Amino acid sequence: MDSAEAQPPVGDPLTQVPPGHRSGFVGIVGKPNVGKSTILNAFLKTKVAITSSKPQTTRTRILGILTRPDAQVVFVDSPGWHQPIDPLGRYMMASARQAAEEADVLVVVIDPHSGIRQEDRWVFDYVRKTRAARLLAINKADAVKKEKMLPLIEQAARLGVFEEIIPISAVAGDNMDVLLGQVIKRLPEGPRWYEPDRTTDQTTGQYVREVIREEILKATRQEVPHAVAVLLDDMTPKDDGVTVIRATILVEREGQKGILIGKGGLMLKRIGQDARLQLEQYLGQRVFLELWVKVAEGWRDNQSLLRELGYGETA
Ligand code: GDP
Ligand code: MG
Repeated sequence: MDSAEAQPPVGDPLTQVPPGHRSGFVGIVGKPNVGKSTILNAFLKTKVAITSSKPQTTRTRILGILTRPDAQVVFVDSPGWHQPIDPLGRYMMASARQAAEEADVLVVVIDPHSGIRQEDRWVFDYVRKTRAARLLAINKADAVKKEKMLPLIEQAARLGVFEEIIPISAVAGDNMDVLLGQVIKRLPEGPRWYEPDRTTDQTTGQYVREVIREEILKATRQEVPHAVAVLLDDMTPKDDGVTVIRATILVEREGQKGILIGKGGLMLKRIGQDARLQLEQYLGQRVFLELWVKVAEGWRDNQSLLRELGYGETA
């Protein structure tokens, strides 16, 4: 290739950035349920990752890309750190480790309700060996008293793992700008990595599957959330402005299928209605959503099904 060809086109949105532009990868890591995905969504001011009160809602790495004139921050949301008990869990943990390893800056998240526990220390020990700059976000500050927060900040400071310790509330939006400022000043100078209008690496199909799974997580309890996966069978925009979406919900056992369908099909109907409303808002179109429930015994151990579901390997 001659050198003229190797030059980016004039006005290339990736390289045409002001002097001092910063960019890089920012891993959001921590144990399950501390609010990592809520933080990602709060930074982007739009919903990219699903969230729920159940642990292990997030199963893969999800990028959320924030583009400003002075910086492009590529947030990497990740599954919560836990001891895996099956191949799905091992995939999730590999994704979580990868998010930590590839980061320029790490935002480690803890929940002040539980304080600093063994699982948190496990994450701290891992991240201190990475090359990344490390910040600690104590999330859910809206939900605890100041008297609980201050000793926790002191305790965390004594560990010597973090450059800054910042209490935040992703739900209330408290201190998110402070945390963002601390993140950006630690990013290296560089061009944009993604087109400025791109907000995530998820495809529409992946997001649709996640929204359906989110509504299932909200509606179910105990082992059911963990036993569920969603496959997209069809998504077709029709001429009349309606998008037809057909999806199959996998569960592991007949009993779980019964729970999901509910008495007289009421549970599945409610899940479908709530998912449809979310998807209509997201797609800006009317949606016809058809859900099927299918028993796929041991799908969490089945490598080819895991691959089909996108839980098969880490890049
Ligand atoms: P993740 O597993 O770490 O990604 O956690 P999620 O983002 O899914 O959130 C777990 C739970 O914590 C959900 O019920 C959230 O609504 C809740 N949560 C997240 N951030 C906050 C916060 O700032 N304040 C409060 N009160 N709850 C939060
Ligand atoms: Mg999450």
